[in-house]
Amino acid sequence: MADQEQQKDKLSQEQQQNELSQAQPHQAKDSLRPATQVIHTGTEPEEHTGAASVPIFMASTFHQRDIDAPQDFEYSRSGNPTRQAVEKALAALEGGRAGFAFASGMAAMTTALGLFGAGDHLIATRDIYGGTYRLLSQVWPRFGVETTFVDATDVEAIAAAARPNTRGLILETPSNPTLAITDLRAAADLARQQGWISIVDNTFMTPCLQQPLALGIDVVVHSATKFLGGHSDLIAGAIVVDDPALAKRIGYLQNAFGAVLSPHDSWLLLRGIKTLYVRMQAMQKTAQKVATALQAHREVKKVYYPGLIDHPGYGVHKAQSQGAGAVLSFDLGSRERVKAFLTKVRLALVAVSLGGVESILSYPTTMSHAAMEPEERESRGIGPGLLRISVGLEDADDLIADLEQALAALSGGQE
Ligand SMILES: *Cc1c(COP(=O)(O)O)cnc(C)c1O
Repeated sequence: MADQEQQKDKLSQEQQQNELSQAQPHQAKDSLRPATQVIHTGTEPEEHTGAASVPIFMASTFHQRDIDAPQDFEYSRSGNPTRQAVEKALAALEGGRAGFAFASGMAAMTTALGLFGAGDHLIATRDIYGGTYRLLSQVWPRFGVETTFVDATDVEAIAAAARPNTRGLILETPSNPTLAITDLRAAADLARQQGWISIVDNTFMTPCLQQPLALGIDVVVHSATKFLGGHSDLIAGAIVVDDPALAKRIGYLQNAFGAVLSPHDSWLLLRGIKTLYVRMQAMQKTAQKVATALQAHREVKKVYYPGLIDHPGYGVHKAQSQGAGAVLSFDLGSRERVKAFLTKVRLALVAVSLGGVESILSYPTTMSHAAMEPEERESRGIGPGLLRISVGLEDADDLIADLEQALAALSGGQE
C-alpha cells in the first residue's frame, strides 16, 4: 500500500514538473499560425505513454494526497484534464488567456450572461440567434435584467440605446440568418468608453476567420456544436476571455452553474478542432461559389453572404475577418416554393444546425428562429421564403448542380 502511495506521489511530482516545463512552450505556441495551432495546441503527447491523443479522463473525482496541498484536479465539474486540454486549445485559438468548455452553446451563453444581475440593462443585436433571443427576452427579465434590441449594423443605434444602468453589449457578426455585419472595433470602443462588458457570439466565423478579442471585445462565446466540432456529432459550447478578472468570474460561474462539457465530448471537440482550419478554408471557398451561382439564378430573389461585393457589410467584414465563412442565406419568395425546393434537394441535409462536413439547409422560420414572434422575424428580414445553407465539404460542382436541379423544379411554379 505504502509503496503504491509513494509511486503515485512520484508520478504526480513528475506530472507537476512536466506541466511546469510545458508552460513555456505553450506560450510560444500562441504565435503560431492557425493551421499549426489547431494541430498542436492543448494536445501534447500524453506524458506517461506518449499517446498521440489526449486520454479521456472518465473520472468524477480525483484522489487528494494531502488535504493541505491543493492539486490541479479535485472534482470534474471544477476541472477535468480532457476538458482542460480543449479549453487550452480554445483559448489559444481565440488569442485569449482563458478558455471554458460547456455542455452546449446555450450553456456557454447562459454562463456569460451570469455576469449580469438584477437592475442591469443590456443592449443586444436584434439579429441574434433564436435561443439567445429567448434567454434575453423571456428568461433574464425574470431575474431583473432587461435587454434592448438594436440594429447593430449601426453603431450609432447601439450608442443611442444606452441607459445609466447599461452593463453589457451582446453581438453576433455575421448574424444569423441574414449575415448582417457589425463593426466590432467600433462597438468594442464604445463598450470600453461606457464601461460595458462586450460579448460576441463567434460561432459563424470560428477563431480561424475572426478573433473578436484582438478587436477589443471582452468575451467570445461559441456554439462549438457547429464548426468547432465540425462533424454534426456533438453538442458543446465555449467561452474565451483575455482579461484575468473576467477569467476568474467566468471560471467561478462555470463551476457555479455546472453546465460543463463531459470528458468524452471534450475529446470529440478536440478531435474536431484539429481539422478546423482546413475545413473552414475549403468550405468558404465552396460557399463563395454557391453564393455566386445562387445570385445568378432567376428563381432566387436574394442572397445574403458577406463575401458578395454588394453585401452591405462587405467592407467592414473584410476589414475585421479573414474570410466570409461557409454560411449563407437565400430567399425563394414563399413557403410553398421553399417546400417544393426542399423536396428536390438530394445532397444537403434539411436540418437544424450548421458547420458540419455535410451541407445543411435550414428553414429559420420553423427551426432556429421558431422562438421568435412572427412579426419580430419578419421585421428582421426572416421571411417565409428564407433558407439558410451551411456549406459542407462536398465537391463544389456537385453541390451547385444539386441546388440548381432543385431550383429548376420551381420554374413554371408561381411566377
Ligand atoms: C447553435 C447556435 C447557438 C446555440 O448553441 P447550442 O450548441 O445549440 O446550444 C448559439 N449561437 C449561434 C450563432 C448558433 O448557431
